[in-house]
Amino acid sequence: MLVDSHCHLNFPELAAKVDDALALMRENQVTHALCVSVTLEEFPQVRALAERYPHVYGSVGVHPDYPDVPVVKEEELIALANHPKIVAIGETGLDYYRIKDDCEWQRERFRTHIRAARRCGKPLIIHTRSAAADTLRIMREEKAGEAGGVMHCFTESWEVAQGAMDLGFYISFSGIVTFKNAVALREVAKRVPLERMLVETDSPYLAPVPFRGKTNEPGLVKYVAEEIARLRGVPVAQVSSATSDNFFKLFNIKETTSHA
Ligand SMILES: [Zn+2]
Ligand SMILES: [Zn+2]
Repeated sequence: MLVDSHCHLNFPELAAKVDDALALMRENQVTHALCVSVTLEEFPQVRALAERYPHVYGSVGVHPDYPDVPVVKEEELIALANHPKIVAIGETGLDYYRIKDDCEWQRERFRTHIRAARRCGKPLIIHTRSAAADTLRIMREEKAGEAGGVMHCFTESWEVAQGAMDLGFYISFSGIVTFKNAVALREVAKRVPLERMLVETDSPYLAPVPFRGKTNEPGLVKYVAEEIARLRGVPVAQVSSATSDNFFKLFNIKETTSHA
């Protein structure tokens, strides 16, 4: 049994073939998936998927790569998160890679999400790219540890992983660990304790080897778990069960036996 802790099933590449994606999940024994929101505009699609499929969950948040959307309010996030299948706040965080101008608005938006998560008691899904120092600083300043959460699609150093784990956060690895050039990241994936680890696809992006360049889907999280098991020299079942247990614990999901 495996869980994809981060996917975008509502994105056009996957929305057009949800049934196929769910079939591949079944085939690869991927029992649950968390469909992550990137804007409030597309949030209803995320919620609809979570309502329609018992083994699909959702989150609510506005990704830092969207500069031209209305200012997000804490109250709004809290109200939308008040739903049994909406289990997290995010994805939120900082991304200085794509947007190079003054990013104060990103930092404000990130703070709003952390405050909302603390108030509604749901964990955070944090995206960070080329912004690790500011991400950790704001997490500390806003006491993100009180809400907890996950550093998703982790590509940073061991020191950053450690900083996030010190705040009680989980570290989630994607198909990037299977990429040939991800030498440093594989070392981090060897060191993060299994009890702090999640796995994800971030589909439709970042398909793992041997599917690199194709449309990714939640069922392919199997290849992420297999690579991590290989790196650590442990059976894949150990990685699967640890990361699944962590998922249910972090996102407060009681039902662990539901299959499609
Ligand atoms: Zn992300
Ligand atoms: Zn994402």
